[in-house]
Amino acid sequence: MFATPVVAQAQRQAASKTSPLVLDVERRVPAVMPKVVSWRRDLHEHPELSGSEVRTAKLVADHLRALGIEVQTGVGGHGVVGLLKGGKPGPVVALRADMDALPVAEQVDLPFKSKVTADYRGQTVGVMHACGHDTHVAMLMGAAEILAGMKAQLPGTVKFIFQPAEEGLGNGRTGSKLMIADGVLESPKVDAIFGLHVGNAPVGQISYRPGPMMAASNNVTIVVSGKQAHGAMPWAGTDPIVIGSQIVGALQTIVSRQTDISTVPAIITIGAFQGGVRSNIIPDSVVMLGTIRTFDMGIRKEIFARVARTAEQIASASGATARVVIDSGNIVTRNDSTLTLRMIPTLQRAATEAGAFPAPLWTASEDFSWYQERVPGFFFNLGVTPKGTDWRTAPANHSPLFFADEAALPTGVRALASLAVDYLMNPVRP
Ligand SMILES: [Zn+2]
Ligand SMILES: [Zn+2]
Repeated sequence: MFATPVVAQAQRQAASKTSPLVLDVERRVPAVMPKVVSWRRDLHEHPELSGSEVRTAKLVADHLRALGIEVQTGVGGHGVVGLLKGGKPGPVVALRADMDALPVAEQVDLPFKSKVTADYRGQTVGVMHACGHDTHVAMLMGAAEILAGMKAQLPGTVKFIFQPAEEGLGNGRTGSKLMIADGVLESPKVDAIFGLHVGNAPVGQISYRPGPMMAASNNVTIVVSGKQAHGAMPWAGTDPIVIGSQIVGALQTIVSRQTDISTVPAIITIGAFQGGVRSNIIPDSVVMLGTIRTFDMGIRKEIFARVARTAEQIASASGATARVVIDSGNIVTRNDSTLTLRMIPTLQRAATEAGAFPAPLWTASEDFSWYQERVPGFFFNLGVTPKGTDWRTAPANHSPLFFADEAALPTGVRALASLAVDYLMNPVRP
């Protein structure tokens, strides 16, 4: 997956044609870094759950206004949009950062560790930037400061999208969709969009992938209804626990026996199985919750049909019924191939010694996919695993032990600002 330093050097040498604007970006990075680090620590200590990003949005909006950037707030919930009109005519490029945190109680021992709690679905939970969105916001604030300082030379417009609720609000509602519905890709119309995600990889290393990159993700709910009976007289009822167990087993054969996974993988996981209250009562029904991950819309459609058929017909074979509901979820995060290939040298340069390499498929999902459905987009990964820690075994995103090394932040700032200026200088026309 990750190439050697020798290859990295060759790649950097290949990325030789560097525009004066990118050199200007690079010159400006060191000056903003102390601020980026302090924003990141402040955000990390004050995380807000999806849909509650009030403080975060204010921090962002105040900063953008102070830079003289035109600001719109309350877009798709607590979303903030900044519009930086360059001194010269040109296209519109968007840079996106997501702002929300997760219902996870932080276990990393940091001076700026989160002690925040919040109400989540009727429970008091710890709140933590366990997906690293604090770093995304801080890096994009830094890139905004750099680009605002270069306003007069910019040949086009940069739209900064600070998005709420990437982790979702339930029922298929997610921040990118809400911002799109509020017109974030219009007036002015966005020509291309870039975004990044931090994760486990050597610190500062960038990875990218043309075409499908992250999975489509869909939640499935299966309710098996049988007939309640005494546990000692099962013949008097219809046992939804036994039938539900058969369904869980059979669902595993959809990917392993019925799907062509020779080009892209697929995953079906049942993560919750709820039913019954006591040892000697067969319950009336069980509820199963699962997730389906796919990288191809045709395979996705086929798997949806097979999941429904498998559950319904196994239930019916035993005299029960199964109701299957699959939500609209996230579609595949699919990088525009032309845009990606055009921008690889920019990322190779931004990554310096750590390098930029092709990435494997990532079975997590991203609501960045909804922007890419409408405009050419490119999403890439930035490694944040500290030196001396094995990134393969380090606690990953969403873990209470997830830790993002700040040493990666200059690379992210440089990458975002460089992508914007390189695109404006030489836009990719469809
Ligand atoms: Zn996440
Ligand atoms: Zn995330």
